[in-house]
Amino acid sequence: MARNTGSVCRMCRREGTKLFLKGEKCFSQKCALAKRPTPPGQHGQARQRKMSEYGSQLREKQKARRAYGMMETQFHLTYENALKMKGVTGENLLQLLERRLDNVVYRTGLAASRAQARQLVNHGHLLVNGEKVDIPSYTVKKGDVITVHASSRDLPLFKAAREGSARILPKWLTCNFDELKATVENLPERSDVDFALQENMIIEFYSR
Ligand code: SF4
Repeated sequence: MARNTGSVCRMCRREGTKLFLKGEKCFSQKCALAKRPTPPGQHGQARQRKMSEYGSQLREKQKARRAYGMMETQFHLTYENALKMKGVTGENLLQLLERRLDNVVYRTGLAASRAQARQLVNHGHLLVNGEKVDIPSYTVKKGDVITVHASSRDLPLFKAAREGSARILPKWLTCNFDELKATVENLPERSDVDFALQENMIIEFYSR
C-alpha cells in the first residue's frame, strides 16, 4: 500500500496544528511544531497569506486525512460511506474515522501513535472478539473486545502498556491494561475527537 515517507512533523507544520504522529515526542518540548510553528520550506514564513475558501476546505480535509494516516482514495471512500449513513454527514465521517481499528488501538494507549497501531494490526498482533484482524481500517462496533494475541503479549511495547499507560481514554473506550483488553463501550461522539477539526469544511470540499 502506498504511504507517506517524508517527515511527519512537516505535516503538522503544514497544517499548523498538532496531529500527534510521533508518539511521546508530540507531548514533549521536542515537538517540531512547538519549536517552529511556521509552514515548512525555505519560504514557509513568507507564504503565510490569506487563504481562499477552497484552500481552507482543502487544508481541513488534508489535516484529517493526515492525522488518521490515510491515503486520499481510502479517505474519500470513508466520506462516501458517511454520506450513506443516517444523520449528519460530518459527524458520521468523524465517527467512522474514530472507529477504525488502528485508531482504537492508539486511543486506548496500546500504541504510541496511529502509525504504530496500524503496523501492529498489519502484523497480526491484535484480535477482535477472539479473531485475528489484520485490517487497520476495520470498523469496530459497540461491544467489540480488542485483545493482544497470546504470542505477542511479551513484546516490549505491550509490556510497557501493561506497566502503566498514562493515556486518558475517551469515554467510549475502556481498557484493562493487565489483560491488554480494550472494550468498545459505546460509539464515539463528536466531542471524542482529540484534535481541532471543522468537519463541515471537509464535507463542503467533497460536495463541490
Ligand atoms: Fe512532530 Fe508530533 Fe509535534 Fe506533530 S505533534 S510536529 S508529529 S512531534
